Amino acid sequence: MSARILDGRALARRLYLEIAPQVAAFSKQYGRPPGLGIVLVGNDPASEVYVRGKVKAGRDAGFRIDVERLPTTASLDDVLALVERLNTSNPHDGILVQSPLPPSVGPDAERTVFDAVTVQKDVDGFCSANVGRLVQNRAVIASGTPSGVIELLVSEGIEIAGQHAVVIGRSEIVGKPMALLFLHRHATVTICHSRTRDLSALARQADILVAAVGQPGLVTPTFVKPGATVIDVGVNRVTDPLVIDRLFEEGHPKLAVFREKGSVLVGDVHPAVSEVAGALTPVPGGVGPLTIAMLMRNTLATARARAGASGT
Ligand code: NDP
Repeated sequence: MSARILDGRALARRLYLEIAPQVAAFSKQYGRPPGLGIVLVGNDPASEVYVRGKVKAGRDAGFRIDVERLPTTASLDDVLALVERLNTSNPHDGILVQSPLPPSVGPDAERTVFDAVTVQKDVDGFCSANVGRLVQNRAVIASGTPSGVIELLVSEGIEIAGQHAVVIGRSEIVGKPMALLFLHRHATVTICHSRTRDLSALARQADILVAAVGQPGLVTPTFVKPGATVIDVGVNRVTDPLVIDRLFEEGHPKLAVFREKGSVLVGDVHPAVSEVAGALTPVPGGVGPLTIAMLMRNTLATARARAGASGT
């Protein structure tokens, strides 16, 4: 039996069909589109790809998207000055700081920079005020990736309340907010991480299993209860032929991609899981497109809140 594929791209397209007319109505009413400022520090190739995706999706939906770049050598003060400029800039309703920041900004800089984003423009939901609201189940804005996962489960009619959700990964941007969103929707939640003992046995208890680790193919069929829903958040570019051998059998379409391009994008979930799971998100085309769609929805929400507050 092959798992039902949960198509994040299709859902993202439907979300943009809802968002775009609202963006147009906002632009007409206020004489300007909702605006997002993206802070991009350095030249991390993966970040460049992510930012390009956000720019294209946002502009296609009618948003104003500005990418504010700083060099790899930028200091923490440079980044904070840029964030402060965007905090007070009228056309920008949302601010996104692309992670990771380069080592030049120093250890723990990300936390400091996320907290510097004014709560009114924190479209990622990463500043401590928004995290606190999320913990208390009164979030206005929640991080895009976990929100996108919930949106996908709901739109696919997959029950959350009363289910056992196991989240592998406890990062601030995916694992923790994911676990909280499940909890607020009345799932029983287990959070796993690198120190978890007997990971596969815990994962196998899940009705809904989320992998947000960053390790290609970590979740093998032994991690999965037959029929469970498996959400693959991981995005890993693999170039190592040994990893490819472990993941793909002869004839798998991704093997052809690897042989042609020398690299291939894979998730944290081993392809063989599709024979055990009831439903599964692909990589790419699962959670990624929804992360961007939720970011745009959050930007529209902060734009409306700002416009409403200022009456302009
Ligand atoms: P982090 O590196 O911040 O966190 C990874 C988590 O996985 C940590 O909590 C870590 O545990 C845990 N972990 C690492 N190794 C193991 C292991 N062997 N067993 C169990 N747990 C382990 O990553 P992110 O949360 O930022 O991202 C996770 C993945 O999701 C990445 O592949 C990233 O590219 C992808 N991603 C995808 C997005 C999308 O839109 N599709 C958006 C954001 C991220 P510990 O805390 O103990 O170190």
